[in-house]
Amino acid sequence: MKQLPRKIDFIEIEKKWERLWEENGTYAYNWGDDGRPRFSIDTPPPYPSGNFHMGNVLNWTYFDMRARFKRMRGYNVHFPQGWDCHGLPTEVAVEKAYKIRRSDLPPDEFRKLCEEWIEQYIAIMKEGVIRLGCSVDWSLEYRTMEPDYMRKVQRSFLILFEKDMIYKGEHPINWCPRCETAIADAEVERESRTGKIYTIAFSVDGKNLLIATTRPEYIPACVAIGVHPEDKRFNKLIGGEASIPLSGRKVAIIADDAVDPKFGTGTMMICTYGDKADVLAVAKYGLPVIKLIDGKGIMTPAAGKYEGMSIEEAREAILKDLDETGLLRKTDNLEQEIGVCWRCDTPIEVVTTDQWFMRTMSLTNEVVNKAMEIDWYPDWMRYRLIDWAKSLDWDWVLSRQRVFATPIPVWYCEKCGKMRTADPEALPVDPRVDKMEGVCECGGTEWRGETDVLDTWFDSSLTCAIHAGWPDREDWRNLFPASMHPSGHDIIRTWAYYLMVRHLALFGETAYDSVLINGMVLGTDGRKMSKSLGNFVATPEVFEKYGSDASRLWAATGGSTGTDIPFRWADAEYGWRFMRKLWNACRFASMRLEDYDPSTKAEPGLLDRWILSKLEGVVREATDEFEPCRFMNAVEASRNFIWHVFCDHYLEAAKHRLYSEGKEKASAQQTLYYSMRRMLQLLAPAIPHLTEEIYSHMYAEGDSDSIHLSLWPEADGSLIDDEAERAGDLIIAVIRDVRKEKNRLGIPLNKPLGELKVYAADPSEAEMIAMGIEDISATLKAEDVEVLEGDGEENEVEGYPSVRFSLASRTDDT
Ligand SMILES: [Zn+2]
Ligand SMILES: [Zn+2]
Repeated sequence: MKQLPRKIDFIEIEKKWERLWEENGTYAYNWGDDGRPRFSIDTPPPYPSGNFHMGNVLNWTYFDMRARFKRMRGYNVHFPQGWDCHGLPTEVAVEKAYKIRRSDLPPDEFRKLCEEWIEQYIAIMKEGVIRLGCSVDWSLEYRTMEPDYMRKVQRSFLILFEKDMIYKGEHPINWCPRCETAIADAEVERESRTGKIYTIAFSVDGKNLLIATTRPEYIPACVAIGVHPEDKRFNKLIGGEASIPLSGRKVAIIADDAVDPKFGTGTMMICTYGDKADVLAVAKYGLPVIKLIDGKGIMTPAAGKYEGMSIEEAREAILKDLDETGLLRKTDNLEQEIGVCWRCDTPIEVVTTDQWFMRTMSLTNEVVNKAMEIDWYPDWMRYRLIDWAKSLDWDWVLSRQRVFATPIPVWYCEKCGKMRTADPEALPVDPRVDKMEGVCECGGTEWRGETDVLDTWFDSSLTCAIHAGWPDREDWRNLFPASMHPSGHDIIRTWAYYLMVRHLALFGETAYDSVLINGMVLGTDGRKMSKSLGNFVATPEVFEKYGSDASRLWAATGGSTGTDIPFRWADAEYGWRFMRKLWNACRFASMRLEDYDPSTKAEPGLLDRWILSKLEGVVREATDEFEPCRFMNAVEASRNFIWHVFCDHYLEAAKHRLYSEGKEKASAQQTLYYSMRRMLQLLAPAIPHLTEEIYSHMYAEGDSDSIHLSLWPEADGSLIDDEAERAGDLIIAVIRDVRKEKNRLGIPLNKPLGELKVYAADPSEAEMIAMGIEDISATLKAEDVEVLEGDGEENEVEGYPSVRFSLASRTDDT
């Protein structure tokens, strides 16, 4: 055994191990069959945002603790890391940086700029993942923008198209006028705003009919007036017609039980489309559709004199006209919840355009069933997915009108418009650049490539299959479904949902067998972390001050799995102090074990049996808590035991034997050697660097040996010893309280005591104390210890009302 050095720089050793793990291939997945069961982690490829924030620290600490625990449990762990590259934020950043619009360049050239741009962000994030000490197998690294990844995404597109799970059609969709693209329900954020509601006079047979609306600019697209069939004020109008203000165009008055008679004036303007309720009404009553707004958020010719205006301009102009003609009767404030674009906060519009869709609605029941069947940590998070799946009204709109994305592998015949998909062997293709060869059934030979591209989620929702090696490896089902999909609770509705529908549609199977959910990281004051609130903490700052192991201890113990946790500097500092304690204890152990020969067997003493039995309990607890991902409980149980039982009490009481010779020393050495190894293993998933460093000095056999490849401690029932625990607890309590008293009296701890009398009213307690008389005497430097049956008068031992003691300092020593 090598002695631990006196000086240690935690941060330096962290960086050293990150390098060595990579050099030694410590975390390499074995694609062959080595007899171990496989455990595959569907690491979500993050969208590189240019930093590795504390939320990332929390996510990856969870992923990694799971990977490390399973590896030590004997699994062949597949822990890949990819990067989700495509998407709008990069396009916007590139446009800004080069002062261009995306349409200024051919798509492949613009794409190149985006690829270069995202690389710098990937580098920053990758450094963060490595610096956190994640046990990723970097030989599995990938980027979703790589041709090979796009080939697989396009392949899946063709399969789903063949299966009729993907279709093209004209349907209402969410549209962001600023980003000029379709967006999915999952990308629409709900926001509360104070808006205005306007009461406007329509007319029916020359009489006024007042209608309240928040969207007066939609009046030119009004297709009907709805009234509740049981509303006596209005139901006599059903079947008649109303004239629209300003234009005089006539629309039907229809019965619609979705109308709330108490809202506004009790009548409702149905237009195409002010919101989703309009979409439902149009479908239900077969109403016509008026296309009012184009893809840039500009009024179409259907808007009449308002054509060419933006939505805002049209609203102002219509309100002005209504006011001037006296038709605007009232304006009130209204607290309303509206949908805004996730990316730019612009209120979304509902428009009808020709788009590509995946038939996700038909999978809702299967999603719900699978969500019930698989494991969730924590369990109740399953309802986030179920509720989301059930809340959806529309199929997933797949097409986006952007550039930096996976192209849709489709061409259209210029002559007859017939669609033709790419040859699977030719993938990946970019129909915006690549030409389609061949003759159409109509004889046409000219083909127009699809210019729409795929939603980024269509890339990242295929990871369970792609990680496993689909479609190239024959053995891909060894790793599919993924054993675990880990992610944050904020993206269950996107990540967990899209993965599930995607793999269900492709393979008829669940994408993953379990889901691990982490919460969000809040600022130091418990509010949402944000630079403007002054509660923002940058990860490099934490890493530089306390290192990544201490940061991981904060993440592991900051709160229970799935809950939001604030970042607290005190937690990182506490973790760091614990690591110092651990280092010092192990250093002491390494010195006292220098001459220890693990092959010799010694009879354990009472306090050895006491600590071994207690440690056995902690091993069981940590195992039981790690298995269902209750990281906080697992790590706290280990940390509290190591710090406050093993170091504070066992080590102190065993010192006198460790400094002696012979059998006494051998039994204490044996216990120390065995316990330290186990305790380091219990901590290894949470603090991989420091445990590895200590292990390398004390236990490693050869340079490539690693604590992270050692097997997790097996339960050993023979170590459970209730009697030793009872006696040991009492002996330790006596030592603890006498030391406290010594301290209170101002007697230095190393100064010998003259006389120590311990009284126990209960004979069995007296007997137990007597068993530890040598440990008590040596640890407290009390030469004259007497254990007496009976009632003492002085100091009561905490937790033992019938045990008291009295002490005197040695009189001859002044
Ligand atoms: Zn937007
Ligand atoms: Zn044709």
